Amino acid sequence: FKTPKPYNEPVLTYAPGTAERKALKTALADARSKQLDIPMYIGGEKVYSDKKVALRPPHDHQHILGHFSQGNKDHIKQAINAALKAKAQWENLAWEHRAAIFLKAADLIAGPYRAKINAATMLGQSKNAFQAEIDAACELIDFLRFNVTYMTEIYSQQVDSAKGIWNRIEQRPLEGFVFALTPFNFTAIAGNLPTSAALMGNVVVWKPANTQIYAANVIMEILREAGLPDGVINLVYVSGPDAGDVIFKHPDFAGIHFTGSTEVFQNIWKEIGNNIHLYKTYPRIVGETGGKDFVVVHPSADVKASAVGLVRGAFEYQGQKCSAASRAYVPKSLWPEIKELMQKDIASFKIGPTEDFENFINAVIDEKSFDKLAKFIDNAKADPSVEIIAGGTYDKSKGYFIHPTVIVAQDPKYVTMCEELFGPVLTLYVYEDAKFEETLELVDSTSIYALTGAIFAQDRYAVEFATQKLRNAAGNFYINDKPTGAVVGQQPFGGARGSGTNDKAGSMINLLRWVSPRTIKETF
Ligand code: GLU
Repeated sequence: FKTPKPYNEPVLTYAPGTAERKALKTALADARSKQLDIPMYIGGEKVYSDKKVALRPPHDHQHILGHFSQGNKDHIKQAINAALKAKAQWENLAWEHRAAIFLKAADLIAGPYRAKINAATMLGQSKNAFQAEIDAACELIDFLRFNVTYMTEIYSQQVDSAKGIWNRIEQRPLEGFVFALTPFNFTAIAGNLPTSAALMGNVVVWKPANTQIYAANVIMEILREAGLPDGVINLVYVSGPDAGDVIFKHPDFAGIHFTGSTEVFQNIWKEIGNNIHLYKTYPRIVGETGGKDFVVVHPSADVKASAVGLVRGAFEYQGQKCSAASRAYVPKSLWPEIKELMQKDIASFKIGPTEDFENFINAVIDEKSFDKLAKFIDNAKADPSVEIIAGGTYDKSKGYFIHPTVIVAQDPKYVTMCEELFGPVLTLYVYEDAKFEETLELVDSTSIYALTGAIFAQDRYAVEFATQKLRNAAGNFYINDKPTGAVVGQQPFGGARGSGTNDKAGSMINLLRWVSPRTIKETF
């Protein structure tokens, strides 16, 4: 099994004067000048419905980028039928040919589609150029390339045979179809969830978040151009209840590949449990959900590195990464210096639309999210037990802008220290230097989620102690770095506890969930 050696796609800078900036500006202008009529894709056909829903940039909610066709239960049934129809031919296609399609898709993104998919992510999801580049271009390319290598590693794992017999392991695709339910916050995840299952020979019904459809449409265009056969991945835009009603009652439902909220995931799990008697096989349930990710600073920490890590970890992409730093624990001795550095850094941020490349902070995804965040900020303002040391303001007149906000809480169990807000709000607790150990216990005991976390410390004993103490509090643990920005092939990503099934996106562990092995013993 030898496939092209995977490597992490180099990140382009988009610095002024570069060819990539020029191409991206052109793609942005082109996208802005059009109003797309976005279809669903069922069995390779473009399917339109009468119900058109407008797509708008979160940072400019008066502009219409286009409309998508809202589907209904019939469309889901058609998508399942199209998937099942495509199944036999797809799963019998030699693995090299399946792999080649996804490797070609990676190359199409790296080359001719790079500007287009980044522009779609910048406009549809309000990511700045850099955040779009590390997501829609680099991470999606990496998922596609590395998964091919993991696939060959899985296929090459074999067993021993005693004299006179030959034992083999056959990695079969799941019996039925896989449902990919994908989030708004990463175009790479939206692309990875359906394609990783499809790479292993499965057929897929894919429902993206409405707020990510603009870029999902580009992913589908790329997959089709790469040669994905009709019906292997069917893209539908339907409501959650409609999708659930049909999919989770279908006897051929074989697995779900999910990234989204903890609440939705738990409801899905219950729904699957309630219908378990209907299925031919126990469905694979793979989900990455919420987080309330921590940063702990030890008194021995490098002050500058800690402040940078806190600010970048909390505010890149407006804190809308599952991995974002949203609660922090800082020792009293370092707090004045860290506070000053953080305030200075935050004050330097430019806020506004993504098309102006100077803006580091853009809008949050929609009005619902904006209103929720504004309410938490207002409550904090009215609470004498907390202090807001940065931000605390917001404006939705043109787009859904929440200004990067830092709340300092006297109570380490203050509501925003515990609840996931999914926005640019960091809550911080200042602890007595002598209470480092108790603080770690507090972090662990309040970690209902366990996705990412970070420790900043120079003292090796402190690093070691925190690493042990917080063993179960994060699936991705960072020492002297921010808790965001996992790279495919380097830091497999996922968490346990309330954060999901920890099946590590972009790893062999994940791909193993999309096969059902058969052991064959032949006696000579
Ligand atoms: N993998 C991303 C990171 O490390 C986060 C993914 C997510 O938000 O779901 O920042």
